[in-house]
Amino acid sequence: MVTDKIRVLDIIEQTMADGPGFRTAIYCAGCLHHCKGCHNPQSWDMNGGKWMSVDDLFDLIVSDSMSDVTFSGGDPFYQVDAFTALAKRIKEETDKTIWCWTGFTIEEIQADPHMAQLLQYLDVLVDGPFILEQRDTQLLFRGSPNQRIIYLKGKPDDTIPGTVPLVPLR
Ligand code: SF4
Repeated sequence: MVTDKIRVLDIIEQTMADGPGFRTAIYCAGCLHHCKGCHNPQSWDMNGGKWMSVDDLFDLIVSDSMSDVTFSGGDPFYQVDAFTALAKRIKEETDKTIWCWTGFTIEEIQADPHMAQLLQYLDVLVDGPFILEQRDTQLLFRGSPNQRIIYLKGKPDDTIPGTVPLVPLR
């Protein structure tokens, strides 16, 4: 269990493509979902990218006072311990929101207490695998309509198609 560092493929600062507003997007390495037509297959290698400490990532995130935070990949839930440590610091020490993309469904995450630990620190989870046969380029922040924008805190933004409220935690 690695709690103090994350294998990072890329970091995009002040992106407007990974959730609403300006965001610091952390793209982690490693994904075993292997969705057909994945937009980012170079992220699949579980040993790809380079290690970055949670402390350094946190410092980078807080150095930008105007940007919120996005976790993507890859799939952050394959490095759930370190992402939980990072998200905990963000929520305890800043007022930034966290959006997180995953190829797992929220039901799969809720059924696994180890993965579920991250949910408490996220504002929004965009869940589920990309399904090539259902690809819809008109969707905001999603590749296929099975993926849901799940608000874990606060009110759903009804202007974003595919938004659903909190699924009660088990
Ligand atoms: S979950 Fe995302 S990164 Fe992983 S294979 Fe599917 S589309 Fe690609």
